[in-house]
Amino acid sequence: MAVTETASGEAMAGPAAVAEPSQARSAHEGILRRQSARESAARTYARALPIVPVRARGLTIEGADGRRYLDCLSGAGTLALGHNHPVVLEAIRKVLDSGAPLHVLDLATPVKDAFITELFRTLPPGLADHARVQFCGPAGTDAVEAAFKLVRAATGRDGILAFAGAYHGMTSGALEASGDAPDVRVARLPFPQDYRCPFGVGGPHGAELAARWTQSLLDDPKSGVPLPAGMILEPVQGEGGVLPAPDEWMRRMRRITADRSVPLIADEVQTGVGRTGAFWAVEHSGITPDVMVLSKAIGGSLPLAVVVYRDDLDVWEPGAHAGTFRGNQLAMAAGTATMAYVRENDLTARAATLGALMLQQLRSLAQEFPVIGDVRGRGLMIGVEMVDGEMEGEGESAEGEGSAGLLGTGGFAGAAGAGAAVVPGTIPPPRPASSELAAAVQRECLRRGLIVELGGRHASVIRLLPPLTITDEQTTAVLDRLADAVAAVARSHGPDGERQRQHRRRSRGEGTG
Ligand code: PMP
Repeated sequence: MAVTETASGEAMAGPAAVAEPSQARSAHEGILRRQSARESAARTYARALPIVPVRARGLTIEGADGRRYLDCLSGAGTLALGHNHPVVLEAIRKVLDSGAPLHVLDLATPVKDAFITELFRTLPPGLADHARVQFCGPAGTDAVEAAFKLVRAATGRDGILAFAGAYHGMTSGALEASGDAPDVRVARLPFPQDYRCPFGVGGPHGAELAARWTQSLLDDPKSGVPLPAGMILEPVQGEGGVLPAPDEWMRRMRRITADRSVPLIADEVQTGVGRTGAFWAVEHSGITPDVMVLSKAIGGSLPLAVVVYRDDLDVWEPGAHAGTFRGNQLAMAAGTATMAYVRENDLTARAATLGALMLQQLRSLAQEFPVIGDVRGRGLMIGVEMVDGEMEGEGESAEGEGSAGLLGTGGFAGAAGAGAAVVPGTIPPPRPASSELAAAVQRECLRRGLIVELGGRHASVIRLLPPLTITDEQTTAVLDRLADAVAAVARSHGPDGERQRQHRRRSRGEGTG
């Protein structure tokens, strides 16, 4: 095996004989061609990211065509330590070499025992002393289903409160509580956000109005929403567009649910294990949820999901939530190693400082490019919302102050469309979200060797989820490539770019309307 240096300085082990560039290119194209001929129309990432990963280390992925990429998608936020971190590989090898069984259903093993010990030492103090853990099927969505069953059994109630823009998974119960799914058993509440605040005020006042709405819905006997079995929330909505919940709002949700004996379920599938600058994102607000749903990083890049909850909720029946794959020993070992490494190396603090720095630099970029409407995030969970730089906001054009007024906004000031309608006491409506520009930035990033995620309610948010181990030098490389991609898109979609596109359409004989 040879060790090759990546552009970003990471060493990757690989075969010494590398295929000729043209052979590599045709192997890469052949695999992609067969993929589109044989795999489902429901595939997702594979459409926007036509790469064929063959080797990876840390932040870097090498494709079958020999190209290298900086990976800020990180398995949709799974890879806290990046690809193939040595402590993760060592933990996996140790299990393999020990002769331990790899499949054990939900039986006790030393590997599982060590995993639970490491997991419990990270839990918020109020939960750690009274916690139970249920090992469910290996996906986040399965843990969400289990959490719903748990609180339904414990409360004898049925309904679930969830939030607009939420994402909890793809199985039917989790889907009911997610973004755009119509549903009967789940009541959807406003999630606070500054840039597209549903109340048009943003900031602490917007969050306060969202909390009051929730409270009035629960206390109004004619609201049509009976007392629910639980409330589920993401401390930072990830797929919904990187929306960090304000800490005060989180405390309000805790008080509202505690006062009414409604179990609060924190979905930390994406935010957990240091990602947001705290080991668990609920720590920012200091709240203790009754139930935590965990997956992604806790398996150290392998499939694993669990529900952790207060022991007095543990009244469901044996087998109430089961599954064949509840005992993945390799994932437990990889997860134990990952959690211990994050804790011992204080990678949460690193995520907090680096994330703040990245936000600052991206906000400077937003000043330069009107196609960036908002920059937001927490720790290394960062979103850049692309908007139509030329168009005005969604409201009608009218004279208004065009400022955040007395109430202020935590969003990126100055991002709203000039001349948009402003109701006194509210902020100007933001410019229309642009999924087209976001997709263009993602493509331009890929051309420059940078992999980014797309998300948000309108698929208009560029998402960065780098590993917590990303170096300063790599961070600079990521930001440079992203800035370059945004500049290229802004150039081609600005007034000149639009003229060029119209010219091209005319010369192809296409209409412009
Ligand atoms: N909850 C959250 C907050 C998530 O981000 C996701 C996945 N993106 C899920 C649940 C579902 O996890 P999985 O895809 O493993 O089912």
